[in-house]
Amino acid sequence: MSGSVKSGALRTLSQKVWDGHIVHEEPGAPSLLFIDLHLVHEVTSPQAFSGLRARGLKVRRPDLTVATADHSIPTTDRSLPILDKVAAAQVAKLEENCKEFGIPCYGLHSSHQGIVHVIGPELGFTQPGMTVVCGDSHTATHGAFGALAFGIGTSEVENVLASQCLLQRPSKTFRVNVNGVLRNGVTAKDIILALIAKIGIGGGTGTVMEYAGSAIRALDMEGRMTVCNMAIEGGARAGMIAPDDTTFQYLNGRPFAPKGEAWDAAVARWKQLPTDEGAAFDRDIDIDANTLEPMITWGTNPGMGIPITGVIPDASSGADAMARESLAKALAYMGLEGGKPVLGHPIDVVFIGSCTNSRISDLRAAAAVLKGRKVNPKVRTMVVPGSQEVKRQAIAEGLPEIFRAAGCDWREPGCSMCIAMNGDQLSPGEYSVSTSNRNFEGRQGKGGRTFLASPQTAAASAIAGAVADVRTLL
Ligand code: SF4
Repeated sequence: MSGSVKSGALRTLSQKVWDGHIVHEEPGAPSLLFIDLHLVHEVTSPQAFSGLRARGLKVRRPDLTVATADHSIPTTDRSLPILDKVAAAQVAKLEENCKEFGIPCYGLHSSHQGIVHVIGPELGFTQPGMTVVCGDSHTATHGAFGALAFGIGTSEVENVLASQCLLQRPSKTFRVNVNGVLRNGVTAKDIILALIAKIGIGGGTGTVMEYAGSAIRALDMEGRMTVCNMAIEGGARAGMIAPDDTTFQYLNGRPFAPKGEAWDAAVARWKQLPTDEGAAFDRDIDIDANTLEPMITWGTNPGMGIPITGVIPDASSGADAMARESLAKALAYMGLEGGKPVLGHPIDVVFIGSCTNSRISDLRAAAAVLKGRKVNPKVRTMVVPGSQEVKRQAIAEGLPEIFRAAGCDWREPGCSMCIAMNGDQLSPGEYSVSTSNRNFEGRQGKGGRTFLASPQTAAASAIAGAVADVRTLL
């Protein structure tokens, strides 16, 4: 089913994938879509499996379903028991449910365990032209491969497990053109933070974003995943990038990617997926990569971002009363003043990890900044690989030694401080520079205050003990 492309009028990438997956449609009603890959984790699945059991149903396509434990697992020594009773029960339940329903599970002690959006691509499950769903908001990550991927709720998880289909309404199309060349110290994370700062957290509502342009084409797959990962933070249903040789090279040889003749046939099919020349988008926006700076958020949503050398907006700059109130509330929560820079603001914690920035290229970039330097002793710096595979690769390249020599804490794979539900969290009032994707109030721990940034900016800030411009270290 994946990548099956109807011929006809000029279509965008997302329209082609959509058309190839319609099982049933009727005027005025949501369409029934076939789902090629359903990723499952321990937090949003227990209720769905209970629902199946209560209805006497089986998992319709266990062969298209993959599970891992990531959200609630501690990132401490894996030989130790999980002390948190709720987390321990969730992880045990996932393995039990997967066994009962015949689903492959990369659980706590699996050599392929990792964050769901890291292991899908690295094992080759995620492929161009697929529809991918998961009970996690950042499923858009998989759109980096030209897949139509989105997060779903618990009741939808149950429905997909039971039927391998999902009811959906089509989204509008939104092309984000990023042209030019990124300057030294500016990364994929800065592209997406700059976009969200420009359009706001509701700017992409009701759309599927397609990232295009020379700066996107120049990104490796891991950078593309970072950009797609945060589409939801701009309000979009999904983010996508057309597959190309970079995509094919990344996938070729991955354990679950097609092999031999099936590979050749798949690549031929995938090459039909890019948006047709002249196809119309509902909306277009241009970002000039040449002028981007490293970005940092100062507020309590990912749209509250500024260039690292910029100043925090004053509450009075809001366009209307609601915007002014929202700015004032964010400034109060963050303990910051409008009109001042974030650069140089003291921090307590640095978190390098999450499904946005925990892949090997992210760790290499952070290590390149930290090599031969020491983090400020007042800053707790955690480096959390996205998966066991990332961890193995990092060990093979000697990265943990660099992190440890710099004074960082090298952890086991998991979601960690992206979401304060696994023991890794900020204390009330603490400031972090975090490579994750959400800076909502309490996201990293009750009362914790988050500055979102790239791994390079995070590493430079760890060294400085304050929000820092990595370009001064390059
Ligand atoms: S790292 Fe964060 S956003 Fe990503 S899957 Fe885990 S909790 Fe969700």
